[in-house]
Amino acid sequence: MTREQLIERNKQVLRKYIPEKAIERISEMILEYDFKLIIKGDRRSKWGDFRASYGDRNYSTITINKSLNPYSFLITLVHEIAHCKTYREFGNKVDAHGREWKKNFQILMQHFLNTDVFPIDVLYVLRKHLQNPLASANADVELYKVLMNYDSKEKVVLLEYLSDGQKFIFEENLYQRIGLVRKRIECVQLSTNKKYLFSPIVEVELVEE
Ligand SMILES: [Zn+2]
Repeated sequence: MTREQLIERNKQVLRKYIPEKAIERISEMILEYDFKLIIKGDRRSKWGDFRASYGDRNYSTITINKSLNPYSFLITLVHEIAHCKTYREFGNKVDAHGREWKKNFQILMQHFLNTDVFPIDVLYVLRKHLQNPLASANADVELYKVLMNYDSKEKVVLLEYLSDGQKFIFEENLYQRIGLVRKRIECVQLSTNKKYLFSPIVEVELVEE
């Protein structure tokens, strides 16, 4: 793959996850700091991480949770790129979230601190956060709260896309999907233990487990 093709491919992926105006610069950073970006299913414990190349694996990786909203995704990604940059400059000789990392995070974030990339309320809190960044964006309560406002409020899906055993909310009641019965889907209302047949195309709200 040529450099141009690589940039183009990275941009295609990034378009799904970060604000449009940040794509160009981030795709340059991926090449400059030479890491693989891996989009992961959601982990509760963290939003992202950085792993330096080690042993047989001769490349560094950054993983980010896929369902973060574009602003949380971008902040997390730049946080991890700052780890990558710091690792290249100092190896393991400095603290993970020490002075060197903080400085790099501040430098890298400068490219995105404008209203083309972030909404004004996020920008305001983000600037404060950057004065002395914590180990993660969600450890900063003020930043976390303002970012949360941009999460989609509910995860509405068609019942047919759930697996048997999965729980969901329908008209404010909690149900569990049992299985297909002819062309309908049998579910149990968990508060009453009563069973009901649903149309497969009814919209339900996913329950996080
Ligand atoms: Zn970190």
